[in-house]
Amino acid sequence: MKRSLFVISGPSGVGKGTLVNRLLQEDDSLALSVSCTTRAPREGEKDGREYFFLTKEEFSKRIGEDGFLEWDEHFGNCYGTPKEFVLRQLESKSVILEIDVKGALQVKNSGFEHTVLIMIVPPDPETLMNRLSQRGSETEAELEKRLERVRFELSQNHLYDYTVVNDDLEEATRALQNIILKETFRGDKHD
Ligand code: 5GP
Repeated sequence: MKRSLFVISGPSGVGKGTLVNRLLQEDDSLALSVSCTTRAPREGEKDGREYFFLTKEEFSKRIGEDGFLEWDEHFGNCYGTPKEFVLRQLESKSVILEIDVKGALQVKNSGFEHTVLIMIVPPDPETLMNRLSQRGSETEAELEKRLERVRFELSQNHLYDYTVVNDDLEEATRALQNIILKETFRGDKHD
């Protein structure tokens, strides 16, 4: 049985968070990496749960200390995977990273022995745009930037080990669980 990094990406609004929560609820051999960000918390978000919310100065200091497994900037804010936090979790569990495409590829190339990249995609872009618009936490301009990013993320799908379509929540959850099982018990090194 292998302890792995399961990196889950997908465009904003595709339902990654819901799927990841379901995986964590049903499998206690999985832990979630909590990223650091300089963006302000959205309503209902709690420090240390969705993200560790840092100031720009704190984030820069951590970069200087080589404290991130990877980091990236989106919409003027920085996001990073805290290295020590992930390595500590890996001592006893496989770890899920819910991060963007660039970060995912950095993690894949960071030399960790068993990293699996999984992309969650919407059944069709229109469904996703509806979901994004309904979130209601952004201005039109911010929404348009996010939609551009959706197009970019979907275009990087071929770089991933697996693609899961989030059409039906149950089916997508089962598909993810099957991938995790398969990768956890495979005998050879994944590359
Ligand atoms: P949001 O602000 O909607 O929570 O996230 C914006 C983007 O940041 C999403 O595409 C999300 O996947 C990405 N993101 C979240 N955490 C990290 C991280 O630790 N590293 C990187 N590279 N991207 C992240």
